[in-house]
Amino acid sequence: MRWKDREGSNNIEDRRGNSGGGRGGKSTGLIGIIVLLVGAYYGVDLSGLVGTPQLGAPQTQQSTPVKQSAQEQELAKLSSVVLRETEKVWGAYFQKMGATYKNPTLVLYSGATSTACGTGKASAGPFYCPGDNKLYIDLSFYDTMKNQLGAEGDAAFAYVLAHEVGHHVQTLMGTIQKVHQAQRQVGQKEANALSVKLELQADCYAGVWGHYAQKDGLFEAGDIEEAYNTAEAVGDDRLQERAQGYSVPHTHTHGTSANRKAWLQRGLQTGDINQCNTFAAY
Ligand SMILES: [Zn+2]
Repeated sequence: MRWKDREGSNNIEDRRGNSGGGRGGKSTGLIGIIVLLVGAYYGVDLSGLVGTPQLGAPQTQQSTPVKQSAQEQELAKLSSVVLRETEKVWGAYFQKMGATYKNPTLVLYSGATSTACGTGKASAGPFYCPGDNKLYIDLSFYDTMKNQLGAEGDAAFAYVLAHEVGHHVQTLMGTIQKVHQAQRQVGQKEANALSVKLELQADCYAGVWGHYAQKDGLFEAGDIEEAYNTAEAVGDDRLQERAQGYSVPHTHTHGTSANRKAWLQRGLQTGDINQCNTFAAY
C-alpha cells in the first residue's frame, strides 16, 4: 500500500499503557452496564476466532509502561492513515446519498479497555462498539494475524480496520440496531444466521471502501489478493476446522471463507452499497 506519505486521522484515542480506559473507566463502565440492562447494544468483532468482546463491568487493571516497538509505531501510523482514508471515502459517499457521515473514533489500547459495550479484551480481536461509535484495536493483533491466521501485510490490516468501519456504517444506517433487535426475538441458530449477514455486509462495505481507495491510488500490486486472503483467513469454517478439526455451519457467526471473500470482492468491484444486501441474498 502507498500509505506512508498520506495524512492520518485526528480521530484517534490512544489508551495504550493507560489502564482500563483511564479516566473514563468508571463512568463509562456504568453506562456500559445501563446499556446492557436495556439490552440495546453489543460490540461487533472481526471474527469468531477468539470469542467476542466480553461484556460487563470494567475490570481493574494494572498500568503498564508504554513500550512501543518500531512495528507498533508503524502500525499506529498505518491505522491512522487507513482511518483517514475511510473518513474521506465514506464522507463523500454519504454526502452523495444526501446524508452526513459521522467519523468514528479509533481507540488503540493494550490488553483490555472500557467501552459502552462493556469491557473490550484484546483476546477478542478488533471490534466496534455501536454504543460509543468507536473502533477498538490492540495492535498486537497484527502478530495474531501473521502467526496464527497466515494473514500478513499492510493491506491485510487495512481490511481488518475497514471491516470494523463497515460496522460503523451499518450503525449510522440503523442496520445493526435492527439486527440486534431481531436477534432478541429468535433462537440461537437464527440469531447466528443474522449475525453472519451482518458480518458479510461489513465485509462488503470494506470492499466498497476499497473500491474508492483503489481509485485513489492507495493500493499496489498484490494488495487486493492480500485482503482477500485475510477475509478467507477469518472465515468461520476455516477457524473452526483449525480449532476443532471440523466446522459446524449453524454455529457460524461471521460466514465461511468463501462467502467472506465473495462479499468483499462484490463491494470492491461495484463500489455500491446497494450491492451489499446480504439480508436479501440468503
Ligand atoms: Zn465484524
